[in-house]
Amino acid sequence: MDTVAAVSYVTLVSFDIDGTLECGEPPGVVPIELVSTAKRRGYLVGSCSDRPIAYQQAVWQRLGIVADFTVLKHRLADVKARFTAAAYYHVGDSDADAFYASDAGFRFLKADAAAYRAWASELFGASG
Ligand SMILES: [Mg+2]
Repeated sequence: MDTVAAVSYVTLVSFDIDGTLECGEPPGVVPIELVSTAKRRGYLVGSCSDRPIAYQQAVWQRLGIVADFTVLKHRLADVKARFTAAAYYHVGDSDADAFYASDAGFRFLKADAAAYRAWASELFGASG
């Protein structure tokens, strides 16, 4: 029997927590609603942070969001190896985020107010 696997390549978005998400310490500019929107659109979503994995999992549980991955910051390449996606993004606020993103082949999206306005619409299309 011939079976053709239908593979649709989705967008994958990794989020730093502290200084990036509004629930981080310190809080960042990225609202949890944006993460929820990404999930609703079927994007692969997770965290990549200096925080221990258990802490990251607790954050997602508290938010009521099922994360597809939780990794330490220097392990971002593992996420790329694990998931096939059309595009890989890492959202973060620091130079370390930018470094690890480009090192792992992710596009870096800066979590500051000005940049956020530009990439948030890009991420979800012009129509929002
Ligand atoms: Mg940070």
